[in-house]
Amino acid sequence: VRIVNKLNMNPDVAIVGAGPIGLVSARAAAEAGAQTLVVERKPEGSAPSCCTGLVSPRTLSTLGVTNECLLREIHALRVHLPSSRQIDLKSDQLKAVTIDRRALEQELLDKARQAGAVIRFNAEAVDASVGTLHIQSDADNLQLHPSIIVGADGPRSRVASWFSLEQPSQFAPAAQVELDDVSFPSDRVNVFLGCDVAPGFFGWSVPAEEGILRVGLGVLPPHDPIACLDRLLAEHYPTARIRSRTAGCIPLASTLEPAAPGVLLVGDAAGHVKPLSGGGLYTGGLCAELAGTTAARIANRGAGSEDSSDLLASYTSHCLEAIGKEQAFGRSMRIHFSRLSDKDVEAVAVALDDRHLLQFLADEADIDFFHQLPDRLASEPSLWSTLLRIVPLLGSLTD
Ligand SMILES: Cc1cc2nc3c(=O)[nH]c(=O)nc-3n(C[C@H](O)[C@H](O)[C@H](O)COP(=O)(O)OP(=O)(O)OC[C@H]3O[C@@H](n4cnc5c(N)ncnc54)[C@H](O)[C@@H]3O)c2cc1C
Repeated sequence: VRIVNKLNMNPDVAIVGAGPIGLVSARAAAEAGAQTLVVERKPEGSAPSCCTGLVSPRTLSTLGVTNECLLREIHALRVHLPSSRQIDLKSDQLKAVTIDRRALEQELLDKARQAGAVIRFNAEAVDASVGTLHIQSDADNLQLHPSIIVGADGPRSRVASWFSLEQPSQFAPAAQVELDDVSFPSDRVNVFLGCDVAPGFFGWSVPAEEGILRVGLGVLPPHDPIACLDRLLAEHYPTARIRSRTAGCIPLASTLEPAAPGVLLVGDAAGHVKPLSGGGLYTGGLCAELAGTTAARIANRGAGSEDSSDLLASYTSHCLEAIGKEQAFGRSMRIHFSRLSDKDVEAVAVALDDRHLLQFLADEADIDFFHQLPDRLASEPSLWSTLLRIVPLLGSLTD
């Protein structure tokens, strides 16, 4: 009774984490008719998780938001090879956008509330089991009894550990700064490659608000992303002023079973991320809609019934259907990528440095669907001779 009075509701669906993916799940669950509560340990309006905010244009509609958070339109990419040699790709088509992540989360919060979800800030989930969620806040400790708990609590999910669910098996620690008073082309992203630059992953710089550049990198353990980022900044942006620093970690594999009786995981908590780029807003957004509607259906049917285990199984298979191909392709490319020495990277880049091929890649590559690229390349006979040049190199990599 105390709980119902405090929250003025007895939630069917309790979502842990009011990041973008928790909020999309909340809106979907509330729209499907479930009494939905989100608990978020941070205060309302605090800084979002570390993010560069580079997404495909379709991500905004996938998340169900307007383009109010949009900052820049991206048409070009410059790849900085380990030798300092550069490769440029530019397209007339809109390839990506940079967004203001704070504005994105505000719009998602408004939309979740409009749909009827209740969002409680300064409230940390501290423990859970089937049918029970314990929450701690400055004011009180609460025990809720939702039909289903959704873990949208980001990488290294505590919800996953309370239910003994498998966690993503690999993470890339990442660091990012915002530089101001720098001049840069407003429609171009830079990518920095090299074992000394960002071992196991890559670095980036992305235009954001007027005069502001987001520069960051990820690495594989045991490397230190902050030390690597400081070196990258000293080399490429020696005079720029650092406005802010953030750090985070990127799950590089998804969990095989993001659901169990009484719980489902979504977003970074489930590793719903593209392993090649580390981007999680599009893939997480697709799965968030599924998580919210599945949670609402489970709540409507009752937690212990046969149906709820079928629904949990179909959540897992629908997530796989939505993002499985891209994740499998990304994972296998990442394994190849991590085996490349700087010399190998240069050799592949030299082999691919052909005007027609680069234009084709600039126009056809889609940051959400890299797995479709091999088929597109194969359907373009004029590029075959160029592509054949890298076959011996790929052969040596698989040895
Ligand atoms: C450096 C970096 C750059 C990135 N750049 C991009 C990019 O350009 N494009 C892209 O698409 N993706 C990018 N990503 C990935 C993207 O940021 C994530 O995929 C996205 O934030 C996942 O959203 P989420 O809601 O699952 O998790 P989060 O955004 O991490 O939200 C989880 C929320 O849960 C809350 N929480 C955690 N535990 C509890 C608890 N016990 N009780 C209550 N609340 C809790 C946290 O406070 C947090 O608010 C980047 C990631 C990093 C690290």
